[in-house]
Amino acid sequence: EENRRESLMIVTGFAAKFFQDSMWETDEGQSIGLSYFKERGFTNETIKKFELGYSPDQWEAFTSKAIAEGYKPEFLEESGLSVKRDNGSTYDRYRGRVMFPIHGFTGRVIAFGGRTLKSDKSVPKYVNSPESEIYHKSSVLYGLYFAKKAIRDEDNCYLVEGYADVLSVHQAGIENVVASSGTSLTVEQIRLIGRFTKNVTILYDGDAAGIKASLRGLDMILEEGLNVKVVLFPDGHDPDSYVRNVGTSAFKKYIDDNKKDFILYKTSILLKEAGNDPIKKAGVIREVVESIAKIPDSIKASVFIKECSYQMQIDERSLLTELNKMRLAKA
Ligand code: ATP
Ligand code: MN
Ligand code: MN
Ligand code: MN
Repeated sequence: EENRRESLMIVTGFAAKFFQDSMWETDEGQSIGLSYFKERGFTNETIKKFELGYSPDQWEAFTSKAIAEGYKPEFLEESGLSVKRDNGSTYDRYRGRVMFPIHGFTGRVIAFGGRTLKSDKSVPKYVNSPESEIYHKSSVLYGLYFAKKAIRDEDNCYLVEGYADVLSVHQAGIENVVASSGTSLTVEQIRLIGRFTKNVTILYDGDAAGIKASLRGLDMILEEGLNVKVVLFPDGHDPDSYVRNVGTSAFKKYIDDNKKDFILYKTSILLKEAGNDPIKKAGVIREVVESIAKIPDSIKASVFIKECSYQMQIDERSLLTELNKMRLAKA
């Protein structure tokens, strides 16, 4: 109900302010939180624009302040900021973490991601807000509020994996960038992008997980009629580390030089995996044609058939036959 949603957003807004104050106005916040962001190369401007903050390393710094200011425990829990113990007392979900507020469509804070500062592998690197009445993970893209104008102007949306990637790429002057942040890409997220542009460029991490993710989620983007390009970063790099390493103009050049159309990219990766095994190769052909069959625009699809026939050294007509079979099977 609308009143509850509003109450929750007042709580998340208060929390965002609390985490910012805890970072800018306390010794702990400055020496731990702020210096962490500075070491990662984020400017004051970026830190302020994205309302980054710090959660004090205490069990109830936030919860007790919020209660003292009259916020209802019910909303503190529903927003996920406070967690209830079995004995009824509550504690802060975020402690000693740097905080990335997640903004909704109108720029209000609806959730948080908190990153640990420990390298200890037993603590989760990121803790995200649970689902709530105001935060439906599957239909939120991190950074969209700050990116939507640029996405429309550039008629392209860069899609990255993480919070830091959004911040670094944005800071480098490429503002049409959003992240799916933790979830694998959903249809709702793709439709959200589709309201601003039909062109998506995927900038996933140059590790095995990033490459796998880029092969998995993307047929879905094709189905929605969007054009998908993919850029892969050198192994071990993500957009954040890469742009910091090489600088803005080399980063832009890298993207231009390395962006591949998704279908051709997928084909080349699968072909490499298949090697000379004819049975595997037949599987690759089927998989690629399956992707092409998802493209609603049949002219576009036939262009891909041509390019893939060249790439796979397969007669164009047999690919077309395969494509038509799949189309018929779907209809
Ligand atoms: P950093 O650069 O701060 O080390 P990253 O963004 O490069 O982090 P990745 O490991 O590449 O981190 O993960 C990409 C994204 O996936 C993160 O930004 C975060 O949104 C999400 N994520 C990572 N680890 C977790 C986790 N343990 N729980 C929930 N979400 C996570
Ligand atoms: Mn990764
Ligand atoms: Mn990273
Ligand atoms: Mn990463």
